[in-house]
Amino acid sequence: MFIIKQKINKLIFFKLDSNYHKYCNHQHLTSLKFKDAKRMLYAYYKDKQCNYWTRLMDSSKVCNMLTHQYVTNDPLHQLFDAVKAISVQGYDEERRVIYWNEGSERLYGYSNEEATGQKLEDLIIPEPMRDLVISAHSDWIKNNIEIPASEITLCHKNGNDITVFSSHVMFTNQYNNKQMYCIDIDLTDVRNAQAQALFKEHMLETIFEAIPDLFFLMKDDGTILDYHASNKNDLYVSPTQFIGKNMVEILPEEVASKFQTHIDKVIQQKTMVNFEYELLMPHGLTYFEARVSHLSEYSQVMIIIRDITEQHKSAELIRHQAYFDSLTLLPNRFLALDRLSQILLEAERNNEKAAVIFLDLDDFKKVNDSLGHEVGDKLLIESAHRLQQVLRKEDTVGRLGGDEFIVLLRSFNDHHNAIAIAESLLKLFREPFQIDGRELILTMSIGIAIYPKNGNCASDLLRNADTAMYQAKALGRNTYSFFTTEMNVIMQRRFEIEEQMHGALERNEFELHYQPQFDVKSKSIIGAEALLRWNNPVLGNITPDEFIPIAEHTGLIVSIGQYVMEQALSFLCVWQETAQKKYTMAINLSPRQFRDTKLLNFIKKTLNDTGLSTESLELEITEGVLMSGQSYVNKALVEINALGIKLSMDDFGTGYSSLSYLRQYPFDVLKIDRSFINGITHSKDDYNLVKATIAMAHSLGLEIVAEGVETEEQLALLAKLNCNFAQGYYFSRAIPAKQLLAFSAHHNQ
Ligand code: C2E
Ligand code: CA
Ligand code: CA
Repeated sequence: MFIIKQKINKLIFFKLDSNYHKYCNHQHLTSLKFKDAKRMLYAYYKDKQCNYWTRLMDSSKVCNMLTHQYVTNDPLHQLFDAVKAISVQGYDEERRVIYWNEGSERLYGYSNEEATGQKLEDLIIPEPMRDLVISAHSDWIKNNIEIPASEITLCHKNGNDITVFSSHVMFTNQYNNKQMYCIDIDLTDVRNAQAQALFKEHMLETIFEAIPDLFFLMKDDGTILDYHASNKNDLYVSPTQFIGKNMVEILPEEVASKFQTHIDKVIQQKTMVNFEYELLMPHGLTYFEARVSHLSEYSQVMIIIRDITEQHKSAELIRHQAYFDSLTLLPNRFLALDRLSQILLEAERNNEKAAVIFLDLDDFKKVNDSLGHEVGDKLLIESAHRLQQVLRKEDTVGRLGGDEFIVLLRSFNDHHNAIAIAESLLKLFREPFQIDGRELILTMSIGIAIYPKNGNCASDLLRNADTAMYQAKALGRNTYSFFTTEMNVIMQRRFEIEEQMHGALERNEFELHYQPQFDVKSKSIIGAEALLRWNNPVLGNITPDEFIPIAEHTGLIVSIGQYVMEQALSFLCVWQETAQKKYTMAINLSPRQFRDTKLLNFIKKTLNDTGLSTESLELEITEGVLMSGQSYVNKALVEINALGIKLSMDDFGTGYSSLSYLRQYPFDVLKIDRSFINGITHSKDDYNLVKATIAMAHSLGLEIVAEGVETEEQLALLAKLNCNFAQGYYFSRAIPAKQLLAFSAHHNQ
């Protein structure tokens, strides 16, 4: 190689020295040729042409190999050398590289040295195109058919595709040799950008297809330029009707102006804005959300529109659920109280009155318990309908929950208005309800509070109407009651009792007193009724008539009842032992205690613990227990009877006094309420009723206890009527255990 280089240098020197043709040592050339002809040619090429070689090669045997036609194209090459961004390659008639500028090195990866002397098709033409290139080239040379400029994908040294725009020129040098020059402009970036753009377009196309949103391109003035809709049915009008038109011409005026306002806003603020609107579409009222973005460079706006009808509906539903009762569809407590506040504001402004009417269905729990919740629900729905019937448009009826309703009367001035409405409400319920082929009678208790007399704010008025309703219940139900300030005193008392009752058992504030019971004929003691006493340090003595209903209401009666059972039976044990008599103990049971599933087991266990026989115990229940009609009540009563425990119907004559109950359930004893005993000596009616009751009970095999016997005459009459047993102040009040022991010891003497 050293020699070659030397020679070349020498030759170059010749060439540079003079423009004349020179001969070179023939021997050198041959040896060069055989050693590394390509290398030599390359070297020549690199250092510009040396024309004398041409001649030499013409006469040489290896001329095929070394036939190069070099022209002195210096100015041209200088130009090509300067444009480094563009690839310029020169080829001889055999398509061998005779020129390879820096741009070519960059584009195709071959250095000048590597490329020179190589054939075009071996260098950068991909295999499948080679024949085509060769024939096109020869067509040009031979037939002068030019190769047109075109976009073509060629090969980089590393095998990558190179897309170029290729132009070709053909020069003929002074030796009449043709030389093709290719000028290739790299299109890779352009192609990539184009491909990227195409990809993006496809992607957008796919997105448009996949997204149910509508896309509109508009001018700033609202002229619709283009759109995308995956479903044409989502369009308000067909594309032919809106493309090129201003939206004002298509959309309803109100909607169009909403659009224009927001377009103006987006142009001004340069941030995206969104808004909602509704349109009456062929398939119904539809809600949309529009998002508007400004393409400021193009003075256009892009509007993306989404159908939000479903969201709108569910939001509406949620709103409805928050404000309306789902069963009756009436305003719920929240909305009713909100409306009440508004009514009060208005009433204050106009110096008017308003009324809050609190309604509670009577014994609704029984309906639910005995006929099932489905019937209960239907009754509530029907009740709601009826309530709505009497009211004026401006009044509100709402459901507060359970079987409680509220009626709000606005702007009324006459007190009698409220009475009239309350009465018409009661009347509405006189007609039986027809539910599932069944006729049901339902009544209600109504409490009324008037603004401003009974309160200034919604919560006060509601509470006072509630209090008045309680009063209506106490009056015997199926009636109305106006709130009075005294009622608040009653309610206050209720709250205080409730408050104090918690923990009273633990604090040992309860005590049992016993009222002895007597055989009417022999006047001997047969047993006693256990009656509860409560002495509270704050409230003093509270009567059972006052605290038992509250204990029932709060459920505290269950634990209190257990206390009574234990106390009474353990006392009975002592009493029976001391007196050596088979006394009975009558214990009162409340309806609520029957709901306690552990009741029977508790009774059994207590009897067991004390070693008393079951017939020593008598359980007193009122009709209230039976009226719920619950199967567990029936089951418990049957079991009580089976155990041999006596069952007593208390307060007979005060409630429905249904004879059917006496037949239906295994009662042993009937207690005639003291209100009748009180009247037997002076009221014929009472006397007759007591007489009939005793006869009837005896016919059913029941024994009779007369309650509240206070006088000798009463006792005499009862004896005449064959009443079995009696208790009352005539004999003794209810007294503490110790006193009873003394009393009975004394009595038995
Ligand atoms: P009740 O079962 O009807 O009890 C009889 C009530 O009449 C008792 O009132 C008793 O003191 C009263 N009394 C007895 N003899 C006479 C009389 O000659 N004249 C008058 N005017 N009254 C008489 P008390 O003790 O206030 O009990 C009231 C009610 O409280 C009871 O009515 C009963 O229903 C309930 N009660 C009392 N103790 C208990 C209990 O331990 N458990 C349950 N569940 N209820 C109870
Ligand atoms: Ca009783
Ligand atoms: Ca009683």
